[in-house]
Amino acid sequence: METCPKRMEYGPCGGVGPHGECEAAPEPCVFLGAPVRRWAGIDGRTMPERGVRTAAAAATLARLDAGRVIVADMPALANGEDALRRCARILRDGVDVTLAGDAPDARVQLPPSLRAAIVQEEGLSLWAGVNARDRNRVALEGELAGLRVTGAGAVNCVTGDHPHTGHRPDAMPVFDLDATELAALARAQGHAVAVAAAPSRGPVDARVPLLLEKERAGAEVCFVDHCGGSGPVGAFVAAARAAGSSLRFVPCVPVVTSRAGAALLASFPGFAAPPGYLEELGRATDARSAGIAAAVRLAEQMLEVDGVAGVDLSGGAGPGEEEDYAEALAEIGSRLR
Ligand code: SF4
Repeated sequence: METCPKRMEYGPCGGVGPHGECEAAPEPCVFLGAPVRRWAGIDGRTMPERGVRTAAAAATLARLDAGRVIVADMPALANGEDALRRCARILRDGVDVTLAGDAPDARVQLPPSLRAAIVQEEGLSLWAGVNARDRNRVALEGELAGLRVTGAGAVNCVTGDHPHTGHRPDAMPVFDLDATELAALARAQGHAVAVAAAPSRGPVDARVPLLLEKERAGAEVCFVDHCGGSGPVGAFVAAARAAGSSLRFVPCVPVVTSRAGAALLASFPGFAAPPGYLEELGRATDARSAGIAAAVRLAEQMLEVDGVAGVDLSGGAGPGEEEDYAEALAEIGSRLR
């Protein structure tokens, strides 16, 4: 394999396997052993100008700078309006904002701008996940413009998992841009720009340098993927700071309230829980209560880490459990407040 199946300019992605294998092909990742490419613009030449901040972006960054922002992943199915509205109404009194991100396997999703409009109509702020898998740069610019109109608080820019890994392997992947290039486009439209980092995914030595290039492209916020608890998060944030990053870090906190939810979380590429976390929940007689209490404890530890501006209550609901899971997220958020 000579080229990346996701056509990434600024790789590697977060889907590299434990032995260096590609997420989308039975061969090694093409970025292994290569230095992280320095940010040099879209396609290595086009450097978008930074846009005037939207009011929503300014408010988001100010809120993050105040600290203890409680974000919750939106658990509703990615293409259901009524479910989205119901979950938003449940979450709005418990958390500050919801992240409506790319689903781990559901490929048919409401457009990010429409999701933002629906959720914000219900009185809950939304940070919009936008992936580069399903749209070319023109369609992405349209979505980013739509998100300006809806007043989305931030845009989380991801490359996206390859279609081979989801429900629609028949779909043609686009990957006109990658997460780093998309971050630059989002910043050009004045959004508060978030990106993801996966500290526990190989090649681990590339994770801080890659994040710095995303920051050079325009990122201001970093979601730190599940990487084993507050210790690994603290080490990663410290390494990024030492390398010159001034990003606001928001680590993911795994929230598990059922066996189905635990299985879904474990299926996330590169998921790593704190040692014993899932095992302890597996032994609990009341998995829901134990899961809520464990998430509150872990979130408090994460919020103590220097450089951490908030936490993202993250996980997944089993089929039919979405609203109950939203109630659990709201309860955790309320306790943290
Ligand atoms: S693992 Fe990801 S970055 Fe590496 S070659 Fe495969 S798709 Fe590209």
